This record gives sequence, structure tokens and C-alpha cells, in this order.
Amino acid sequence: MAYQVLARKWRPKKFADLVGQEHVVGALRNALAQGRLHHAYLLTGTRGVGKTTIARILAKSLNCEHPNQGEPCGECGQCVQIDTGRHVDVVEIDAASNTGIDNIREVLENAQYAPSMGRYKVYIIDEVHMLSKSAFNAMLKTLEEPPEHVKFILATTDPQKVPVTVLSRCLQFVLRNMTPQQVLSHLQYVLEHEHIAYQGDALNLLSRAANGSMRDALSLLDQAIALGSGQVQEATVRQMLGAVDRQFVYALLEVLAQGNAQALMQQVQAILSEGAGFAQVLQEMALVLQQVAMVQLLPSSVNELQDAVALQYLAQQMSPEQVQLFYQCTIHGKKDLPLAPDEQAGVMMTMLRMLALRPLGMNDVKTTQQVVVPNQTAVQIEAAVPEVVAEVEPVAFATPATHVHAVSVVEAKAPSPETATMPTSLQAALEPDMDEVNSMLSDSHEDRPWEDMSWHETQIESVQAADTPPWEDERPVKKSETVEMVEVVATTPVLALNADNWPHIVQHIAPQLSVARMLAQHAAFIGFDDSSAQLQLQIAQGGKLIEERPYIAKLAEVLSAYCGRAIHVVLQDWQDTAETPHAMALRQEQEAIAQGLAILAQDATAQQLSTLFEGNWLPESVHLKSSSH
Ligand SMILES: [Zn+2]
Repeated sequence: MAYQVLARKWRPKKFADLVGQEHVVGALRNALAQGRLHHAYLLTGTRGVGKTTIARILAKSLNCEHPNQGEPCGECGQCVQIDTGRHVDVVEIDAASNTGIDNIREVLENAQYAPSMGRYKVYIIDEVHMLSKSAFNAMLKTLEEPPEHVKFILATTDPQKVPVTVLSRCLQFVLRNMTPQQVLSHLQYVLEHEHIAYQGDALNLLSRAANGSMRDALSLLDQAIALGSGQVQEATVRQMLGAVDRQFVYALLEVLAQGNAQALMQQVQAILSEGAGFAQVLQEMALVLQQVAMVQLLPSSVNELQDAVALQYLAQQMSPEQVQLFYQCTIHGKKDLPLAPDEQAGVMMTMLRMLALRPLGMNDVKTTQQVVVPNQTAVQIEAAVPEVVAEVEPVAFATPATHVHAVSVVEAKAPSPETATMPTSLQAALEPDMDEVNSMLSDSHEDRPWEDMSWHETQIESVQAADTPPWEDERPVKKSETVEMVEVVATTPVLALNADNWPHIVQHIAPQLSVARMLAQHAAFIGFDDSSAQLQLQIAQGGKLIEERPYIAKLAEVLSAYCGRAIHVVLQDWQDTAETPHAMALRQEQEAIAQGLAILAQDATAQQLSTLFEGNWLPESVHLKSSSH
């Protein structure tokens, strides 16, 4: 018996055999079972998702002598004739090629005559949007006054091009693309019934390459079987598709995360020399990056993915920012590939762009690596960069220029993944460490999780610390790979509690006050007795709503921490003579505006402007530059 291509041999002959499209099949079977039939159906969807297959099954169901719940029997004369394409009343027209039909218009005009052997005359018109205008007109004539015995089943990949007059007379079904999982399980099913040996990874590649089209998947499978001499092997499929070995992609992403340009170029060369397609390299990278992002956000999702260990490893090597940026670069690089001088240059440039724009990641701060020592035991080494980024943020107050209190807070932080911008000098200081790390990485090249999946089981407890950061002097070295944020609040000048300092103190402790913040803003300083550490405050109307014990206790607590001694807060009745920080800020704002308006009034240019436009200065738009520092 001649070899029949898989796509044809395994074309479903019943609704039950269809993969996916449950929403369409369910609706059609119900309508058939209950006899609620429409005279025209339009099936839309991309190529190879089952439009013609569903149309043929529907044609059988309509004419079958023993239908069961809308399902054709597949055995009666009608079913057999339709399956073999010899049924005179079922006319299949491919509008794209017009195969076998010389005059579509004439055929459609014959629709009015009764069927000769079946119950219905069924017109299956594939790629219906390609019909000529005269053919559409002939069809419309029948559609407008449909005879009982005529059914149209139209299929198209491009419903936009079908005339509205036709669309409005059809019951439309949108077929969905198959998911890679649906394709994969169908390929497995086919191969098992064909008794053909296969490798699971080969089917993974095929089902992704099919892009949601079952017909394409089966055609590719045919090719793979032919190339693999009756077997479906991963290597054959990879070569056939120009697909990329994932291990190369993992290695590539690792050197990208490290920012190692030389290793990167070597990796790219290695991938391309394997015969991988340029677009596929970027495609595969994007896919891996998407999975890494998932693992970073939802660590449990790793269990559903292939190569869980490798993905977990990469998720630790890259910061979420890096993953996002690399993903963007990859898909843009793929899009720009046709514009590149040549495809290899396009891929190279995409890699270099990732390197150039690379935000600092895990490796730049702290690298945990598996290193093979001579006695073959894996030792985990933490190399930490001891540099500290100092963030100096002067606290600005809305104080009139006449008396300025310069208060600045100096915070020293450990470099974190979030610290995307680093002073250049500091970055330069980091370079030697990076080289060291990189050379260490290349030495331990044997130990990537995707090269030796057993590494995580043989990991032993012995931990050595290299270059312990200064803030970890006293403490035991942590084994965890997470980057720790260490905040060192350097000596902040503590202001004495007096009326002048009060607004600045309130502003300074505001972040710690949380809910008690509003109370403090509306608390006027009355007096402070140094010997009893008693602070007397009056709460203005605005703060009354929240004048409650917990808030006052909170204020006292934060103030005590600020002053380094226990402060007791005592409330007095509100007198209108006192000024709260809130009132002071308002007053200063008003004063600044008044001052600004006064300056404008004396300024010749400003006067000319207001005369020219016959206008006044809007007070709320006046900002005095010198009022804030
Ligand atoms: Zn039948």
C-alpha cells in the first residue's frame, strides 16, 4: 500500500477525533442533534487548525443515514461517499485555486435544484474571501432566499475580506490555534499508533515549530520520520528546523548576565557553527527568558517546565530587570533582523546591545558559584563585593532664604540589584572583582546545571567565605544566595528640641511616624524641659481628629529614638498663638508668593509683560526659587 502522508491519514473523520475546538464542535453537535440548522456556516481561523476537516464532518453529519447525537456514523453510503470525495451533492470548492471547478458561478446557480442522492446539497467553499465578485453574487442569490435543501459551509483565514452581505447571513465560528501541548499530545498519539520510535524533546521542538497548526505539525513529523530513517530523533529535528540546542542558550544567557563580552562572542560563534538559524536563536532566547521571569516571580511554576534546574539556576543569576531588558532586546532584535546588514550581524548586534544596556544584576553584587576543587568536592563560595554605595540626600526645607538650617542625612547602603545607576568611579572599582569572578566562572565551566544535572544533590555543606564584606565581620557567613540589603545610617546630627528646630525634627522623623505623621504636623511646640524630658505640645484643629493616645505614644516613641533618650509628650489646650509645622509651611508658602509678587512688581521686564498682555500674575503660579534649597 502506498504511503499516505500523516496529515491525510490522521485527518479526523468524526467530531470526537478532533483535537481542540471544543467550543465549535459542542455548538455544532448540539444544533445537529436538535435539528436547529442554519443554512450557512462560516469557519474562520489560521491555516491548519481544522476548518476544512470540520466542514467535511459537518457535511457527513448533515447527510448521514444513522447520525448519533450529531456525530456521523462513518459507515453508511453517504458517509463513505463523502469521505472518498465522490458524493455528488457535496461540492468542495477551493476559491484560492479553483481546482476542478471551471465556473464557480454556474455551480452555485445550480444550488436551487434538489439534491440527487443526499438529504442536503452542501457547498464547502474554502478560502471563500478569494471568490470573484460574480461568484459572490451568485452565492448571495441563494443565501438571500435559501432553499431548504442547501447548506453552505464557508471557511476563510481572512474574514475581513468577506463581503458584509455574506457575513451577515452566516453563523460564524472562530477556530483557535492549537496550543503546543495539544499538538504534542496528538503527535504522541499518532506515533504510538504508527509504532514509530521518538524522542520526547524532538516532539517538543516540532509542536512549537508548528505554530498552532496541526497540519503543519504532521507535515513536519512526516519530514522528520523520513530524515531520521523511520525514527523521530531530536538531533534530526533540530537540524531540520534550524532549531537551537537549549544548552547553548542557557550558556549564552549566563555570560550575558555576567557581562562577559569575550565569552559572549565565543558562545554566539559556537551556536551559529552548530547550524542554528539566526531567528531561532533569538526566538529560543526569548522563550527561555520568559520562563526565567516566571520562575523568578512564581518559583513553584518551575515544576511544570522542562529543564527546571537550569531555569532555576538562571533565575538566580539574573535580576528581574535584566530578564525584562534582555527579553525586550531579543524580540526587537528578531523583528529588526531583516533590516540588519546580514543576519549574523543582526544577532551579534542584539547580543552587544544587551551587554551595553545591561542593568547590574546578581553577579555584580554577590556571586555564588559552584567551583570544582581538586578533590572533586563541590564547594560553594560566596564572593561579595565590599564596596558601598553612598547615597547622600540633603533634606530640603521650605525655609525663607534669610535663615537656613542645613540638615543632611547620609545613608550608606549596600549595592543592591535595584541600584541601576552606579557612579562611574565605583563601577571602575568593581571591574577587577568582575574579572576575578569571570575567570572563576570559566574555570568551573564543567559544573553548569544543564551539563551535570546531579550537581545539586552532591552539594555539600562546607562553605568558605572569600572577601567577607565589612558589615559581616562579626556575623557568621550566610549561605543564602539572596542579596542582602544592609542599611547603615551614618551619624545624623540630632537637633535640640526647641521651637526653631521643631518643624525640621518633625520633617525628619516623618517617615518613621507613619500614622502619627498628621498629628505631628499639627502639633505646635510649646516648651521642652530638659531635666524631666517633658515635651509640651498643643494640637491644632487639623490634628484634633486624630488626637488619640496611640498616635501620641507613637510620636513619643519615635522622638525618643531620635533624641536617644525617653521623651514624654504632654498635651496642652490649643491656644491660637501657637504655630504648628503645618501652619508654618502654609505661612512660608504665602510669604514666598508675596515675596515673588513683590519681585515681579519691581522687575521691568515683568511689568512690560503684564502691560503687554493686560494681565495679572496668578499668585499660585509664583514659585520663589530661593525658598527651597
Ligand atoms: Zn453515516
